[in-house]
Amino acid sequence: MSQATLIDGKATAAALRILIGKKIGQLTAEHGIRPGLAVVLIGADPASQVYVRSKRKAAVKLGMESFEHTLPADTKQETVMALVQKLNGDPKVHGILVQLPLPKHLDEKPVILAIDPLKDVDGLHPENAGRLMAGEVGMVSCTPLGCQLLLRRQLGDMTGKNALVIGRSLLFGKPMAQLLLAEDCTVTTAHSRTADLADHCRRADILVAAVGRPEMVKEDWVKPGAVVIDVGINRLPGEGDKERLVGDVDFDAVSNVASAITPVPGGVGPMTIACLMFNALRAARLQNGLDDVKIPTSF
Ligand code: NAP
Repeated sequence: MSQATLIDGKATAAALRILIGKKIGQLTAEHGIRPGLAVVLIGADPASQVYVRSKRKAAVKLGMESFEHTLPADTKQETVMALVQKLNGDPKVHGILVQLPLPKHLDEKPVILAIDPLKDVDGLHPENAGRLMAGEVGMVSCTPLGCQLLLRRQLGDMTGKNALVIGRSLLFGKPMAQLLLAEDCTVTTAHSRTADLADHCRRADILVAAVGRPEMVKEDWVKPGAVVIDVGINRLPGEGDKERLVGDVDFDAVSNVASAITPVPGGVGPMTIACLMFNALRAARLQNGLDDVKIPTSF
């Protein structure tokens, strides 16, 4: 079997950002609206700080307004709730993202529930999860949306494909399964209690792994010719004091059997931030009574 094609998330995200930048320019020129994205970071988790910085940079580059709220690690629940309410009421803020995970003493659920569903650019509010399931217009979680776009670009029509999603989180696994269902795939969701996971994997034409276990998916788990999307981000010790990022898929070995595969890094990660920008653009349009914006199949 020849080597799998690399699914280039960096290049796809760059193409998507150009499209979003144009649409933001139009929105500002025609309606005087500049999408505003508020990011709330609580505590000093280094990975979260990196994500927040990249989100701000991307927003500003695309002509959005970026509002950053950095709170100390010992912030009280009431303070977070009050900030979310303030952002809900601020007409310059169209999207609110509370960077997760929160410090351990804080309860994530009430914070997510407090976000106005129209401003919930992370797509985590139950109203948006329900809208996705019902096929209604709503905010869709950024990482699964990014994976759907990568798959569309790679495969075009996915009708009738067997798709397997490993992971059932609210943030990724559940919305990913819904998006694949909307693409007319036959979808299986696997999780930590799934029996014979490798057998399920071997039947998948599309295999999406979002587990958080380094290189768990092995070469002999993958159907020859399958398209593999690796969502996992695992930090392992690298050379010296550096760290090495690996996915949930044994990339080198699986590349021998898959027809196409995302690398880690450079696969799903860049799409997540581009899709966040897309959600902020959509949120700004919808909150101002303008038409929704769809991503064309090829961009
Ligand atoms: P999560 O909430 O921890 O969910 C992990 C899922 O994997 C759970 O559903 C769990 O099953 C399942 N699982 C755990 N061990 C398993 C096993 N041995 N076999 C089969 N399933 C197993 O994580 P998440 O937020 O969905 O994220 C998953 C991974 O994606 C992480 O590495 C995360 O860093 C990465 N991620 C990347 C991006 C990006 O932008 N690239 C964005 C989000 C997440 P149970 O439900 O039964 O516990």
